[in-house]
Formats: sequence, C-alpha cells, structure tokens
Amino acid sequence: MQHQIRFDQAGPNGTAMASAVEACVHCGFCLPACPTYHLLGEEMDSPRGRIFLMKEVLEGKLKIDQAMPYIDRCLGCVGCVPACPSGVKYGQLLTSFRGLAEPQRRRSMADRFFRRILLATLPYPGRFRWALRAGACGRPFRRWLPGRLRGMLDLLPDRLPADSRLPEVYAAEGARRARVALLAGCAQQVLAPSINQATLRVLARNGVEVVIPQRQTCCGALAAHTGALAAAKKCANQNLAAFPADVDAVVTNAAGCGSGMQEYGLWLAGEENAAEGQRFAQRVVDVSKFLVDLGTVTHGSLDQPLQVAYHDACHLAHAQHVMDPPRQLIRNIENVQLLEIPEGHLCCGSAGTYNIEQPGAASELGRRKAEAIATTQADLVVTGNIGCLIQVRAHLAKRPQNIPVMHTMELLDRAYPATPAAGR
Ligand code: SF4
Ligand code: SF4
Repeated sequence: MQHQIRFDQAGPNGTAMASAVEACVHCGFCLPACPTYHLLGEEMDSPRGRIFLMKEVLEGKLKIDQAMPYIDRCLGCVGCVPACPSGVKYGQLLTSFRGLAEPQRRRSMADRFFRRILLATLPYPGRFRWALRAGACGRPFRRWLPGRLRGMLDLLPDRLPADSRLPEVYAAEGARRARVALLAGCAQQVLAPSINQATLRVLARNGVEVVIPQRQTCCGALAAHTGALAAAKKCANQNLAAFPADVDAVVTNAAGCGSGMQEYGLWLAGEENAAEGQRFAQRVVDVSKFLVDLGTVTHGSLDQPLQVAYHDACHLAHAQHVMDPPRQLIRNIENVQLLEIPEGHLCCGSAGTYNIEQPGAASELGRRKAEAIATTQADLVVTGNIGCLIQVRAHLAKRPQNIPVMHTMELLDRAYPATPAAGR
C-alpha cells in the first residue's frame, strides 16, 4: 500500500506547508548554509532537495518512506532560513511534515523501541538521571553496543553533577527591576545544573526576580522535532497552565528549548487554545537578549585576560535571531577578548537527538567544529545551549588543547563580584 499524506489532508498546518513549498524558487542560495550538504554533497541532502521531496510526498507523487532517509538526516538547524532570499519558512515546514509523516512511515521494531525509550526518558529529569547512571555501567561494554548507543555513551560526562533543586522564587538583589519565569530545561538540569544556578545569580544581580514554576514540564521540542506532535502538544498545554501570566517574560537559557516554546502557536494550530499558544510564544525570550534589552547593572570583570570564542547555537542564532546579545554581554566583560569561530554558522551536529539518531554525521560535524574552534586559539568556548555545550566539549576533549566550554551565564556569573548569598 502506498503511504500518502496530502496538502489537503494536512490539517491546520497544511496551508503553511503549501505556502513554504510554493515560496521556494529553487535558487540554491541556501545550499552553502546547509551542514548536511557540506558533508554529503547530495542535492537531496540540501534544503532545496528536501523541500522538493516534501512537495512530492504531499502531492502524492512519492512514498513517504522514500523521502524519509533524507528528511531524517536534516538537523533541523534552520541554518538555511536566514540564507533564503524568498523567506521560505523551512523550520515550520519541517516540523509540520515530520508530525504528519511519523504516524504513517514504516520503522523497524528496533527503531520504534529506541524512539520510545528516548521520548520516555529524556524529557523527564528523574528518569534521565537514572538512565545516565545505567548508561555509565554500560561503558565497559561500549564496543559491543550498536553505533547509536555508543554515540550516546561517548557524550556522557564521566561523573554526573549532584542533583540540585531550584527554589520556587529567587529574589532580586536590591531594587526589583523585572520579574520573569524560568524554564529549567530537562536535560540541562541533570547534565549541568550549574547553568541554572548561574542564571539565577546573574538575573538577581541585575535586579530580576525569578519565578521557577514547579509544575512546568519539558518544552516539547524534542518530541516536536522528531514528529511526535501529540506529545509536544501535551508539553505545551502543561506549560501554558504552569507558567504565570504576571511576569515580564518567560526566560530560557537553552536555545533548543527557547525556540521550541516559540513554536507553541504552530504546534497548537487548529486547537482551541492556539491563540493562547501564540501569545505565550511571543513572551518567550533567551536570557541573553532579556538582559541586554533590560540593560545590565554591571558588566563584570576577570582577574586575568581571557580569549573567548563564542559558539552560535543554531536554535539561538537562526531560529531566534539572537546573535548580538550574547556577544555584547561577553565583550563587555573587562579583560575578555571575544573571538569569532570560522564557519560559525554551521551546526556542531548536536541538534536535539541528532547525535543519537545520526551518529556518523553528528560526529563528523562535531569534529569539524572542534577543528574550527582550535584555529582561534581561544582559552575558553562559550555557548547558549546545553546540547552544543556537551557536543563541543566532547569533541574538543579529543584534541590536544582540550579547550574548556561553558554557558554564557556561567561566564557572566564568574565575572560578577561575589555577593552575599541571595535567592530565597
Ligand atoms: S534559498 Fe530559499 S528559495 Fe532558494 S532554493 Fe533555498 S529554500 Fe528555495
Ligand atoms: S535545517 Fe539545517 S540541515 Fe536541514 S536543510 Fe536546513 S540547513 Fe540543512
């Protein structure tokens, strides 16, 4: 039986998909911006090729399973979007297409099982922590494991940081200038709780009170970007209910989560609360942009001169168009010199679960990114996304220099003078 989906059966996002496909004039300007095209050199592994494949499927001319290997190799990095002169909304097309295709595509039993495990583990910090501990026990058997599990084990830190609970409210220091709600991030809470702690201290130092809604859940990006749209909607609905309305912004410090939450309107299209999702999405802002817009009360300084290379997370630079604010924060720190990474627009290969689902391509992109960073001779790499941080750190660790990597908020926190314990 030919598995088909059609524009006219594509539900509430059918029109958006059709207009994205129609807007593409096949000029190819997006090709140099696409990491998989760089890597594989295949037209069908480029944005233009993938748009053509999706169009063919949606017009009933191609079977879903013939297109999916190319769609699966797409990182979803949306590096192609700013490069497109016709304004093709590739990210919206891809998310909608994956959501439509997933229930109808054929997957092996092993594939289905693996996906189910990922979706049932990663978005839940408690389960994820348990899975990481179990994974650490599997290290001695690494070479007998399938490639995907090996890739996953290679990225894990040797030792997990201690579990740390976030308070319900973290008070501003001095006069309160703003009040925000923070998304804690599921994987980030487990892999690098220091990022949230640094974020709270930096915001507090700048007069921002932070509410951490205790009933919040995963942003849903992992589910949405792997085609599990029902699970993504569930996350969006829970967060709509959990986050308070009486805050100045919903702040995120993980680029993938922020861009996911900014898609709530898209995920909930056709649902009763679509407009609420849209309004919520408009209140979501990356912490670096929020701080620059608010104006920091101090720039901070370091004791020793430090050369810092800033790595653009795709979901911050391309999806949220946040490129200058983190650079501004870093550049303002006394004794810091900001360096640019060659070909910085190309993805590091992390991209959600990409380094688990496409370990070969992810590893090669990670290796290339580490090589590009090494040419800067930086003392430190700074980024605004936990996925990039883990991927870049793992690949830099394989090089002789082993340059350390940290989050933008961790660098700012280090640059701010110590203050009496805040946050209650
Ligand atoms: S740059 Fe835009 S219009 Fe040109 S091929 Fe790529 S997606 Fe299509
Ligand atoms: S999202 Fe990234 S990998 Fe996918 S087509 Fe666009 S540039 Fe290429």
